Amino acid sequence: MDFDVSQSRDSLPSRSSEDLLDQSLAPTEEILIRVSKLNKYFGDKHVLKDIDFEVHRREVVALIGPSGSGKSTLIRCLNALEKPTSGEVYIHGDRLNPNLSLKQLSVLRRDLGMVFQNFNLFPHMTVIQNVTEAPLLVRKMPKDQAMALGEELLAKVGLSEKRDVYPSRLSGGQKQRVAIARALAMQPRALLFDEPTSALDPELVGEVLKVMKDLAYEGSTMVVVTHEMQFARDVSDRVVFMSDGAIVEQGDPEELFRRPQHKRTQMFLERIMSILP
Ligand code: ADP
Ligand code: MG
Repeated sequence: MDFDVSQSRDSLPSRSSEDLLDQSLAPTEEILIRVSKLNKYFGDKHVLKDIDFEVHRREVVALIGPSGSGKSTLIRCLNALEKPTSGEVYIHGDRLNPNLSLKQLSVLRRDLGMVFQNFNLFPHMTVIQNVTEAPLLVRKMPKDQAMALGEELLAKVGLSEKRDVYPSRLSGGQKQRVAIARALAMQPRALLFDEPTSALDPELVGEVLKVMKDLAYEGSTMVVVTHEMQFARDVSDRVVFMSDGAIVEQGDPEELFRRPQHKRTQMFLERIMSILP
């Protein structure tokens, strides 16, 4: 089966095109995130079933699959927002032990910046305060240094002029770009995105994807749960398809989209492609 989405492809080169990409920004052999035999139950509902999963440094992984398949639970287990029932999570070789204290967990969590569907900005803080809060309080960065970093990151996401406004004055796309700047401010080893564009009006999706593409091309390590198949296909190094709590199939985006090996992958792609504009 062949899913041709090429007619709506934008002009970005595939991230793995060697001629277009500085080799130093390609994924490395180094494993940044490793999940081994991960199981998660909510009550007697088996939500993650023996998941083995790795993310290499500088790799962009798109996590796709039907609603309820366990994508959010999996990435929430990576930064200890959920406690696995069994199995192991290693971040840069450090085991995320569920019995660690909150303080120890918060130290490990700094390694992974998280961007949520609903932005989760602090409503009572201005944009620059949102971005500098964690560097100041958690990293204990001197104020002038945190401000400089905050301003640099706001420039990066194209929001320098919104520095002193409150989130309620921003569009959804702008809020999400602030949330990305805030995640970057902790200088994490990797970024986790959980459907970052799903809550946005369609006309605002592009500005957020653009920022994410820039991060990918700069060599950031990213795990992105998304329904944006074009983004998955054009920007990711690897696509992972989950269904019913398990990884059904994964691989090179072009391969997986053109020749999905499993019936469930085929059915999911057929369905999602048919609802694409
Ligand atoms: P996805 O992100 O792929 O849509 P989720 O990881 O959110 O899937 O959910 C996987 C399954 O776990 C779903 O059946 C969902 O209803 C269930 N689930 C998720 N969070 C909880 C929770 N806190 N308590 C009980 N069930 C949950
Ligand atoms: Mg989800």
